[in-house]
Amino acid sequence: MPYGTHAAAALGGAAAVLVVLALSGVFKHSDPVPPLPPPPDPVTTPPAAYDWTAHPDPEFPLPPYACYLQDVLIVLDPGHGGRSDRPNWKRGPTGLEEAVVNLRVAQFLREFLTEVGAQVVMTREDDVYLDPDIAVDNRKRIELANRLKADLFVSIHHNGDDAPDANYTTVFYHGGPDDSPASRCAARFLLSGINDALRLTQHLPCAMLSDRALFKTGLLVLREARVPAVLVEASFHSNPEEEDRLRDPLYNRREAYGYFLGLARWAHAGLPRVHLVDPPPGKPCTGKAVTLKLDDGLSGRGGWGHDAVKIALDSLRVRVNQTLVTCRPDLKKGTLQVPLPRKLKAGPLRVAVDFENVFGQHVLHPELVLEYAGR
Ligand SMILES: [Zn+2]
Repeated sequence: MPYGTHAAAALGGAAAVLVVLALSGVFKHSDPVPPLPPPPDPVTTPPAAYDWTAHPDPEFPLPPYACYLQDVLIVLDPGHGGRSDRPNWKRGPTGLEEAVVNLRVAQFLREFLTEVGAQVVMTREDDVYLDPDIAVDNRKRIELANRLKADLFVSIHHNGDDAPDANYTTVFYHGGPDDSPASRCAARFLLSGINDALRLTQHLPCAMLSDRALFKTGLLVLREARVPAVLVEASFHSNPEEEDRLRDPLYNRREAYGYFLGLARWAHAGLPRVHLVDPPPGKPCTGKAVTLKLDDGLSGRGGWGHDAVKIALDSLRVRVNQTLVTCRPDLKKGTLQVPLPRKLKAGPLRVAVDFENVFGQHVLHPELVLEYAGR
């Protein structure tokens, strides 16, 4: 609305209020309009007035950019479950079960995600385990995400520690920073969203950690992931005050909203993919090169500047059967010809292509497995 129109509309509204007040006898048309109290001066207001720990009103608005979550496939994994018979298993100081809280947060998160058109699959819907053996239980969770070729696997947990004061957020990715760059991308957005929603006062110097900080070989649910995967410990159920908050479904919903905000920002930043052009999907490879289409996750949306490929060229990494190869994309066509080595045995051919888009987002599923039939 042009400023003049806007001002006229505002004045018109004010005049209407005056007429109503005059008619109701509250004050006469000739009375001066009572002044509004001045807003606090943002320059002179003492910093103590800005309280980080204060929660915003629980309206949980869905940001417009969450539309980019449409059709994104996310597997939510509420950690643990089915162990209510174990008195001290993953419980807070007064007995709140981590598994119950994990499930509530996942259910609220599913509500937010499905509202904006994301596809959500849960690893469990009730207080159950997937297998009595913990390793098998964890394997079944990540296998579901691998089988579905999910765009993201999010394992939802709450932390426990002998020190009752501990209460901060940690997001884990698997292995070294180069092992799954797409997982790190999701991790950093989730951390930011949860920070905004929970307003915890404690923050680790580095809250995004490799799962090797926990175990030498990492966490099974992340180690066996063939899709982007993260494990989130949003807060500590072992902290008495936090346990109290975690009992409150509204607080669980707030935490889920934090995950949702993170995921909406992650999707908004584009979800890059690589598509097989030649040989066509399902056909064996017989040529000297494989042709791929590079999707930066942004240009296909149209809009201003959509015709420019938004890939940081220095970030391009191409591997054939684990060996780095050098090739340059055709930026006009958005395609990449991957040369194949001269000596190559017939059999499975693994072509992995990763790059960053302008938001620093990495390819969700960088590895394509083809059948090489020989030349
Ligand atoms: Zn846990």
